[in-house]
Amino acid sequence: MEKEKIEFVKSKVRNIPDFPVKGIQFKDLTTAFKDAESLRIMCDAITELYTGKGITKVVGIEARGFIFGAILAERLGAGFVPLRKPGKLPARTIKKTYTKEYGEDTIEIHEDSINENDVVLMHDDLLATGGTMAAALELVKTMNPAKIYVNFICELEDLGGRKLFPQDVEVTSLFAFKGE
Ligand code: AMP
Repeated sequence: MEKEKIEFVKSKVRNIPDFPVKGIQFKDLTTAFKDAESLRIMCDAITELYTGKGITKVVGIEARGFIFGAILAERLGAGFVPLRKPGKLPARTIKKTYTKEYGEDTIEIHEDSINENDVVLMHDDLLATGGTMAAALELVKTMNPAKIYVNFICELEDLGGRKLFPQDVEVTSLFAFKGE
C-alpha cells in the first residue's frame, strides 16, 4: 500500500488530550472511520496483508476491534469471533483479567469458538501497552489453533507494547505514532 494513502489515513486521526483520564493522549480513530476514502484505504491495506495466509477466523476485540474485525472476516472469507467484556457471551467461556494503559479489564471468549484447524487473525484498533491483546492471545492459544496472526490499525510506539508478544507471533500495524 502506498505511503501517501497511509499518511492520508493518519491525517484523519484526531488527538484528544486527557481522555479518558488526565495524561492520556487519546487517538480517536472514529474520524478516520467516518471518512469513506480513509475507511476503504484501511480495509484494502489490511486485507492485502492477510490475503493468501489461509485465515479461517478473525477474532475482534470489544468494542473497537469489532468494526474492522467483521469487515476483514468477510473480505478474507473467514468467520468472525467476538472477544467480549465479561457477562456478555451466552455460552461457556474462558476469561482473563489484565492491566491496560488506564485501569484493569477482563475479557472473555466462547470456549468452542476456535479449533486446532483454525488460522486466526486477531484484530484490535490500537496497540497501546499491549495488555489487551496479550491477554487475548493467551486465551486464544489455549484453544490450540494452527497459527495466530495479530493486527492493529494503529500503534503507539512510545509505549513499547510490541515487546509483550512472543517471536512466533507475527504482529502488524498499518501505521504508528511516535512522540505525538
Ligand atoms: P492496551 O491494552 O494498552 O494496548 O490498550 C488497547 C485498547 O485500549 C485498545 O482497544 C484501544 O482502543 C484502547 N486504547 C488504549 N490507549 C489508547 C489511546 N491512547 N488512544 C486510543 N485508544 C486507546
